[in-house]
Amino acid sequence: MRKEVLAFSRPSISEEEIQAVGEILRSGWITTGRKSAQFETDFSDYCDCPNSGVALTSATAGMHLLLSALGVGPGDEVITPSMTWVSTVNLIVLAGATPVFADIDRDTLMTSANHIAPVISAKTRLIVPVHFAGAAVDMDPIRELAASSSIAVAEDCAHAVGTEYRGRKVGSEGSTVFSFHSIKNMTTGEGGMFCSDDGELLQSIRRLKFHGIGVDAYDRNQQGRSPQAEVLEPGFKYNMTDISAVLGQGQLGRLEGFVEKRAVLAKHYLQRLAEVEEVLPLTVPDTTSRHAWHLFIVRLDTERAGMSRDIFMDELKKRNIGTGLHFRAVHEQQYYRKNHDIPSGSLTATEWNSSRICSLPLFPAMSESDVDDVVSAIKEVLGR
Ligand SMILES: *Cc1c(COP(=O)(O)O)cnc(C)c1O
Repeated sequence: MRKEVLAFSRPSISEEEIQAVGEILRSGWITTGRKSAQFETDFSDYCDCPNSGVALTSATAGMHLLLSALGVGPGDEVITPSMTWVSTVNLIVLAGATPVFADIDRDTLMTSANHIAPVISAKTRLIVPVHFAGAAVDMDPIRELAASSSIAVAEDCAHAVGTEYRGRKVGSEGSTVFSFHSIKNMTTGEGGMFCSDDGELLQSIRRLKFHGIGVDAYDRNQQGRSPQAEVLEPGFKYNMTDISAVLGQGQLGRLEGFVEKRAVLAKHYLQRLAEVEEVLPLTVPDTTSRHAWHLFIVRLDTERAGMSRDIFMDELKKRNIGTGLHFRAVHEQQYYRKNHDIPSGSLTATEWNSSRICSLPLFPAMSESDVDDVVSAIKEVLGR
């Protein structure tokens, strides 16, 4: 058995990044400033959506700003999968709108135009597809469907920094929300980025992220903010600090290496797990031209294994292997069970996965022999 604990995820922070953060702390300007502005430029250039980035405190903040900018509220419906992180759905409810869940493909965990079309109504204002695990949602049919009914679309790209769809970077078109939370493919501790090719929407997001004041949190020309600037509409306080932004710049510079390493480890997992039939990896859609391997998710065939997913995770933990759960379906969580009636049978693939998924350790500093340790532990737990 493995002696030290293998965490399910671990950020890769370099000495250069630590030094860059130290320099900001010593510089006299630690909040939103030149580095945040530069990070916005660097990140939106990376996504092939130049000058479109708004650096924020989290992806959740980005989704909140988007709902506010679009004026989503009571009487409106927002379609999103239930197989997602709770943040988007919580925000829809907090805005007074109604979340409407679209089912997913059983083997990619992603929704599609075919799942979304039947739940569109006259009240639908927005569709939020979720790119999952580093693969890409098939966006073209969703965009077409939404455009034909004049519904807005915003992509949850928390797992998709570095992902490509049909040869294009995720983030290069439409409105997209990225996360730099500590477990994501690149991190700023906590942080996020909103990108959009809609100039008017971007302007609203820039204003709302900083109190609704009519200039950016950091005026690029003035180094600081004009003290005379006025509130144009009530806004929030979601601007990223320069402390986070320099870390983000360092991480972005190493992102390609991170993704390559993740892909090597994922390939090794796939090879080693091919012989373990109780464990079912996800399928990679052929429209994903580059997988960013944010997560390595498997589904436990609980019938064949003769044990529940929760016991499987506990048993791995006893063997010093950390795992994650991405995600337990939102509609199965207590608040939503009590307050949202889901017609039974409408989210079959979501529910099937919700009780079977489990994320195995995957982070750039891992080695292939760590992967071997995970697979050995899995085999032992399954009594092989
Ligand atoms: C992490 C995550 C978020 C939230 O990101 P934060 O930056 O923590 O707000 C949203 N959606 C998905 C699918 C995520 O995995």
